[in-house]
Parts: sequence; structure tokens; C-alpha cells
Amino acid sequence: MFYLAGSNQRDIKQLNRNVVMKLLFTSPLLSRSDLTRLTGLTAMTITNIVSELMDAGLVVEYKESNPKEPSGVGRRPVLLELAPKSPVLCGVYISRHRFSMIISDLKARQLFWEEQAYPETLTVEWLYQKLMDSYRRLEQRCLTSQRRILCVGIVSIGPVDTQQGIILNPPNFQGLRDLPVCRWMEEIAGVDAYLLSDSSACALAESLYGKGAGIDNFLYVYIHEGIGAGMVLGGELYQGIHGYSPELGHTTIDFHGPLCPCGSRGCLELYADERKTVQKAAGASTRDIQSFADVMAGAQEGDQACAAAAREFVTYLGYALRNALNLYEFSTVILGYETIDGAYILESLLAEDLGAYLRGYGGRRAEFIHTKFLRGAPLTGAIALGASKVFTGSLPMLK
Ligand SMILES: [Zn+2]
Repeated sequence: MFYLAGSNQRDIKQLNRNVVMKLLFTSPLLSRSDLTRLTGLTAMTITNIVSELMDAGLVVEYKESNPKEPSGVGRRPVLLELAPKSPVLCGVYISRHRFSMIISDLKARQLFWEEQAYPETLTVEWLYQKLMDSYRRLEQRCLTSQRRILCVGIVSIGPVDTQQGIILNPPNFQGLRDLPVCRWMEEIAGVDAYLLSDSSACALAESLYGKGAGIDNFLYVYIHEGIGAGMVLGGELYQGIHGYSPELGHTTIDFHGPLCPCGSRGCLELYADERKTVQKAAGASTRDIQSFADVMAGAQEGDQACAAAAREFVTYLGYALRNALNLYEFSTVILGYETIDGAYILESLLAEDLGAYLRGYGGRRAEFIHTKFLRGAPLTGAIALGASKVFTGSLPMLK
């Protein structure tokens, strides 16, 4: 179907504001002339948009001297900073064992934070009540510091229906299912709420505030109790029809393989399994191996058993990534997994394993890099979800 929609001047004005806001709030300090250069807009347009943002209490001129300019003669460009009392975003991360709630500004700088571990028996009533209690406490702290909450971004273990704002039926979640969390948070907070799965949220966090900034096409691989993924295509987070995140862990790497709980056969997760990787390394190594991060650190330091376990994990993951790269030709794969002291062993092993294949088949290449956010990725993603609504104009900041 072709969509025949034109743009009027008002739309274009809004689009330009969105571009300027996104640049201002996801970059280090910028001046008006930086904005003119980066956007290609006229100096007059930038001056007008910045004035509107200042009048709306979103932006202030940075008072310190410009660190980019040496002191001396000549006029230094004035840098622009988020206003100290600018509106803030609430982020919620509902994981398997606890939920966290955060208040951050539009630059994803954390202001207030809370966490609640689930009781032994988790009920819908408990979850609703505790979400409300946490929100009320954080809301009070925002009121005291005169910060208005714009919206709530919710990130959850999947599967989720982002259109309906419902957490569907996550495995190992005490049987809880069909939770209308967006409606809950809208009732509690009185502002709009949005929902995203954890792996897609991690990709969005990287795209706005992390290592995916400026990269148009990348795959985020989230290795945490299974293998999830998020995709950014053409600079936008890709969401399927219902907003399910890409299930890289349930792509088949052996169709003769065992039956998977998802109903398919030989899924990646049955082979590239963090728990099995830890067991294998622990059984053969003299080191004390308790976690996936211990295996990565051992492999980095040359422990034979850990290196063999990491290599096996990469071999399986590599086949799923060949499929993904053949389908989408991502320039970059960002990996999120727990590690210790920068032991980014999976990235170097994947570059080795896939580099030759990609070069040999069409002279292609892809970068394999580690996430910026580690454990904080889903919560940063919850903030990025709210911020993305501001940067796309879905949540208008100016009339
Ligand atoms: Zn499966």
C-alpha cells in the first residue's frame, strides 16, 4: 500500500524541533553553531528553535567557559544544556525476580531509583500495589525538586504485546500472565505509559545513548537467561506487528535437533546456553567458575577449559548470526552479557569466526562490540523509550 501524506509547514517545524531536541539531549554539550552544522538547518531556524526550547524551560545556556575552546581572544560559542528543572522520565524494569523504577532526565542521567525484590509468592495485587508505592515515593521526590514527570517507559521480560501494553506469559514468572502494565501505570501516574521487551529496550538504549548512536543498522544480542535480540533498521527500532522482539534464541541451527519448548527444533538457545557453558567450564577448569562472567574472564586469561567453553558458545551463536547478517547486512553487532574487567572475549571470537566468512562471501564486514550499559541496559532502555516519544514528537513538548 502506498501512503500519500504530504507535510505542511507545521509538520516540518515540528520535525526540525524533534531533530534539534534529539541532538541536544543525546550528545555532549553543543552550541547553536554546532546544531546548525549538524542539522543543515539555517542559523536563524536554530536560533528560533533554541529560543522556544529555552522559553519552555527545557534548555539553558551553559554558564561555564566552553571546554572545547582554548581561552584567548575571540568570542566563544555558548553551549546549551538541559535546564536544571526540565521535565523528567520514569522508567520501570520488570524482571523475573524484582522490579526497578528510576527517574532520569532527558539525557538519561539518573536522579532517583528504587528496587523491590518479589516475595516467594508473587501476585498481581502485590505487584500493582508495590509499583504504586514506589511511584508515589519517586513522584514525591520529583515534586520536592520541582521536576514534572512526562511519561512512564516500562520494560519487561518477554513476551510482551507493546501495542496493547500487556506482559503476555513470560516463562518462570510464577505463572503470572496477561498483565496490563501500561494501563496500571497510566492509572497510577496519570501520564502516558509505553511498553517494550527488555532486549528491544537494550537496543534502543544503545541507539539513543550508547554505542549504537549514529549507526543506522545494527543488531543487539542480549545474552541473559537466554538469547534475545533487538534490531535498529534505518535508524529506527524495528518492532514487529505486535511488538514482539526478534527471537534470535529461537532461530533453528539444527533442524534434526531436539524439540524446543517454543515448538520448533534445534533452537540456538538449546545449544548456546549460559548454564551449560558454566557447567562445562567448571567441570574441566581448576579455577572457581560460578558464572558466565567467570567463564569469560577465564577465557580472556588463557584458561584452556574456559576458552573451549567460550569457543563452543561462539560456534553456535555464530551460525545464528550468519543467518541474521545474511538477512539484514547489519554493519554492527552489539553484545550485552555479564563480564568482568572488560573480558570481551565473545566479540573477539565472533570477529575471528565470522570475519573470514563475511569477507569471503561478497567482501562484507561487520563490527562486534560490547554494550555500553551492562546491567543497567534495560532500565536505560526504559528511559530511552520515554525519550524516543519526545524525540519523535509522539509526546509533544511544545505547542
Ligand atoms: Zn525454540
